[in-house]
Amino acid sequence: MGPRAFCFDLDGTLYQGGSAIPGALELIARLRADGIPCRFLSNTTSRPRARITARMRSYGFNVDDDEILNATRAGGLWLDARGIRRVAAFVPDESKPDLGNVEHRGSGPVEAVVIGDMAGTWTDAHLQEAFGHLMAGAELVALSRDRFWHDGTRLVMDCGGYVAALEHTTGKRAHVVGKPSAAFFEAAVTSLGGDIPAADVVMVGDDIDSDVGGAQRAGLQGWLVQTGKYDAARVAASEVRPDRVIASVGDLESM
Ligand SMILES: [Mg+2]
Repeated sequence: MGPRAFCFDLDGTLYQGGSAIPGALELIARLRADGIPCRFLSNTTSRPRARITARMRSYGFNVDDDEILNATRAGGLWLDARGIRRVAAFVPDESKPDLGNVEHRGSGPVEAVVIGDMAGTWTDAHLQEAFGHLMAGAELVALSRDRFWHDGTRLVMDCGGYVAALEHTTGKRAHVVGKPSAAFFEAAVTSLGGDIPAADVVMVGDDIDSDVGGAQRAGLQGWLVQTGKYDAARVAASEVRPDRVIASVGDLESM
């Protein structure tokens, strides 16, 4: 029996450079027609789910917010599972709804400090505020430990450097909730409805370690596409062995 569900990385896997990868729209349409559920996984924390949905729709993908699991939503699930309500979240204001039903505290005691990509607005005052909460006992939650991403013009810092700075200064170790954490992929499988075992779910991505390795550690199949950030030398150097390598998601359309 073939895969019972698919999870897809977004940038570099389903779309690239402002449009869908050739064949990607047809693939998603066919999976929908066959009744195979799909989830769309992103570590992007500079934008809320609603904007990821809007972007995908502008490329022609038929998707709903509920099918998108981003690292910010994964952070919300992590907090919810632990009953943590009072947080200081360093994410763009428009992303705060993705964290779910938490109480955002500008001051006073908080149970967790959540670090995401502030979309270029980090300041020393933000770091100092996070540092103060952590030294007062708050947990450190990293939406990702990603170092940088490409905004189409240049490489820009993601939140990993700020997480590292706070770990270094406080001696605390961050709980990472986005890719490649197993919890992220487990949350994706859980969102499928519960009766589909992880081994029957395929994660398709262009990052050998974060997408393929992370998914495999959570028990999913990891399929690597040779689009986006695919780099043969990096694949050869990685200890991760993809369950399958395909030129692009377009090849899955004729599978
Ligand atoms: Mg990617």
